[in-house]
Amino acid sequence: MTDRVIPLADLRYAASLPRIPLIETPPTGLLGDTLGRPLRDLRISVTDRCNFRCSYCMPKEVFDKHYSFLPHSSLLSFEEITRTAKLFVAHGVRKIRLTGGEPLLRKNLEILIAMLSGLRTPEGEPLDITLTTNGSVLARKAQALKDAGLQRVTVSLDALDDTIFRRMNDADFPVHEVLEGIEAAQKAGLGPIKVNMVVKRGTNDSQILPMARHFKGTPVVLRFIEYMDVGATNGWRMDEVLPSAEVVARIGAAFPLEPIGANASGETAERWRYKDGGGEVGVISSVTQAFCHDCNRARLSTEGKLFLCLFASHGHDLRALLRGGHSDAQIAGAIGLIWQARDDRYSELRSAAGGTDAPGAEPRERRVEMHYIGG
Ligand code: SAM
Ligand code: SF4
Ligand code: SF4
Repeated sequence: MTDRVIPLADLRYAASLPRIPLIETPPTGLLGDTLGRPLRDLRISVTDRCNFRCSYCMPKEVFDKHYSFLPHSSLLSFEEITRTAKLFVAHGVRKIRLTGGEPLLRKNLEILIAMLSGLRTPEGEPLDITLTTNGSVLARKAQALKDAGLQRVTVSLDALDDTIFRRMNDADFPVHEVLEGIEAAQKAGLGPIKVNMVVKRGTNDSQILPMARHFKGTPVVLRFIEYMDVGATNGWRMDEVLPSAEVVARIGAAFPLEPIGANASGETAERWRYKDGGGEVGVISSVTQAFCHDCNRARLSTEGKLFLCLFASHGHDLRALLRGGHSDAQIAGAIGLIWQARDDRYSELRSAAGGTDAPGAEPRERRVEMHYIGG
C-alpha cells in the first residue's frame, strides 16, 4: 500500500466547510459580528507568490526553491473572485483591496479589476477598489490598471537608501525602480498614493527621516507600520518593533507635526500633518495600539478561504461552496453565519497580556502567512 500524499498546502492552511443556513435570509448589509463590528472591507489575495523576500513576510530561508506555492488550479478564478466579491458587497462591503503575495504578478489582473469595477452597492454606487503592491512592476502597469478601473494604489517601500532597500527586499531589487513606479502611478491618476514602510528597529529605522523628507510636500501619504507578529516564519521579536510614538517623535523633532482626525471608522492609520503645510504622514500601530474594536476587514485567501483576522490559523472554505454547486443565496447565507460568529481581536488580547502573545491564541506555528491571506 502506498502512502497517501497530502499536499503541503492543505496542511498549512486549515479550513472548515462553512455551514449553509437552513432558512435563506437575503443579505441586508447590516451584518454585525459578536462585537457588533460591521463587514465593510474585503482584502483579496490574488497570488501567494512574490518576487521579493522581505524578511518580515517571506524570509528566504523558508520561501526558497523547495517551497511549494499553490498550483494554478487551486487559485480562485477571476469569475469566482467576482462572484464572491458580489456576495460580500451585498453584506455591506464597500472597499476591496487586491493584495497577495505580489498582486501584479497575477496574469491579466486588469481583467479582474475591470470585472470588480462593474460591481455596484445596493444603492447603485461603485466600490472603492484599491491595490497594495511592492511597486516592482508598477511603472509598466500603472496606466493599464487605471484604465481597467483601479482608483488608487498603496506602494510598500521600506527604505530610500538603495543598499538598505535591497537588503530589506532580499531580492537585490533597486529602489529607483519602485520610485519610478510611484511616479508612473501618480501620472496615471492612481492617487492619492499611499506609501507603506514597515519599520524594523535596527534594520531600517535609520530611513524614517529620509523617507519623511523625500515625500514631504508631495501628494504621497507616507505611513509607517509597526513590524507585526503575523505568520509563523519571520522570527518576530518585540525588541525589533519600533513603536509608532517613537516614529512620530523622531519626525516631529525635525518637522513639527500635529494630529488630525481619522477619515472613517475602521481606519487603521493615525494621521498627522506637518505644521508648515507639507502634507501628512500616518502611523499604523498594530502592535502598540491595537485597533480591533472597529476592525471591519475580512480576508479572502488566494485559494478562496475566508479569514476573519490577520492572526487566524483557521479559515472557512468558500471555494468548496463555489465549486460545489451552491447557489449565491446559499453562499451569502454561509458568509453571514461566519461573520456573525466572529469574535477575533488578537492584537487587543496581545496588548492586554503585555505584549508578546495573546493568551488562548493558537500557537504561532499554526498561524496563516500574510502573503497567502494578504496584508
Ligand atoms: N506584495 C505587496 C506589498 O508588499 O505591498 C502586497 C502584499 S504585502 C503582504 C502587504 C503589506 O503587508 C505590505 O505593505 C507589507 O509591508 C506588509 N507586511 C508584511 N509583513 C508584515 C509584518 N510582519 N509586519 C507589518 N507589515 C507587514
Ligand atoms: Fe512580497 Fe509584499 Fe511580502 Fe514583501 S511584503 S515579501 S513584497 S508579499
Ligand atoms: Fe482585525 Fe485581527 Fe488585526 Fe484585530 S488583530 S485589527 S481583529 S485583523
